[in-house]
Amino acid sequence: MGKRCIVTMAMLHWKITSRDPAGTHAVLYGEINEATDFGELTLLRGRIVFDLTGIRRINSFGVRQFLGFLDALHDQKVIVEVEKCSPAVVSQLNMLPEFSRKVSVRSVQAPVECPKCLGEREVLVEIPRGSRRPPQPIYTCEECGCVLEMSEPEDRYYAFLSEH
Ligand SMILES: [Zn+2]
Repeated sequence: MGKRCIVTMAMLHWKITSRDPAGTHAVLYGEINEATDFGELTLLRGRIVFDLTGIRRINSFGVRQFLGFLDALHDQKVIVEVEKCSPAVVSQLNMLPEFSRKVSVRSVQAPVECPKCLGEREVLVEIPRGSRRPPQPIYTCEECGCVLEMSEPEDRYYAFLSEH
């Protein structure tokens, strides 16, 4: 039983949440690796927004799979935007400029912490269209009201923006 659960977790799952002429919205979750099959997602056309908050792992082979998937979509004139990119996805965007050039990033999940109560969490940060500079939104801790700080250096976390 436990073994089957692990196999399932290592797969990519998705849910297409809206399909209309303005675009398709799909939520992706799980893991992207060398065995990932994008299935029906390869048939999407037009404008697509992928919500990547649930992608908790994506290894170097997985990024290659994902880039191949994006290339196939681009060949069909599909416009791909990504939103709520998890820290795992952001780290790949930063490592592979090729990846960040193939998608338009609308928002990311940024790891933040409270300097006073040391709680860590992720906040959703919108990326203004065409922006090349790290966004600097201000979030406060729900517990103590302190201003939350990024857990990673901002310039490093948002390095992918300079590749657009
Ligand atoms: Zn606090």
